[in-house]
Amino acid sequence: MATDPDDYSRGPVRCSDAPGLPRGARQSLAALAGGCLCGAIRYEIARVFDVMYCHCSRCRKGTGGAVVACAYVEANDFQLIRGRPKIYVSSPEGNRCFCGECGSPLYFEGRGGRYYSVHVGTLDDPERVPPRIHQCVEATLSWLRLTDDLPRVVGNTLPHPDARGGPSSA
Ligand SMILES: [Zn+2]
Ligand SMILES: [Zn+2]
Repeated sequence: MATDPDDYSRGPVRCSDAPGLPRGARQSLAALAGGCLCGAIRYEIARVFDVMYCHCSRCRKGTGGAVVACAYVEANDFQLIRGRPKIYVSSPEGNRCFCGECGSPLYFEGRGGRYYSVHVGTLDDPERVPPRIHQCVEATLSWLRLTDDLPRVVGNTLPHPDARGGPSSA
């Protein structure tokens, strides 16, 4: 079953609004933390519900990498704790958010702030969130050799991990 990635989550928090949240107003989201290269922007994540490689050309351009690993986070499980990213409206599906000081591409914000797709390389400890699947494999660069045996799917219409079977979400 194909589900629009936009349907992964829901919630009122937008990255553009989150810096205004009072620190004490919600529980700590310090399960995972990350930020940009210069440290101007820092975020915390309470829970990741999916992790995948994306091979699409938009992710290549948006990150500069041959492939990007993304951790999917529901809106209420993501909190900016320092700084305010620049936002590039890259598609009708959402915005790419990056540091205006050092340029680190930090995360994709689903339209309406309903979910975040955080670039795993910006986490302080990326070892903790290994990818589970490859998407957009039709766009994989011919010279890229990844020898894992993770599932590989065409396109970016992966359903929520709860709906697609296989390894359960963390
Ligand atoms: Zn920065
Ligand atoms: Zn992509």
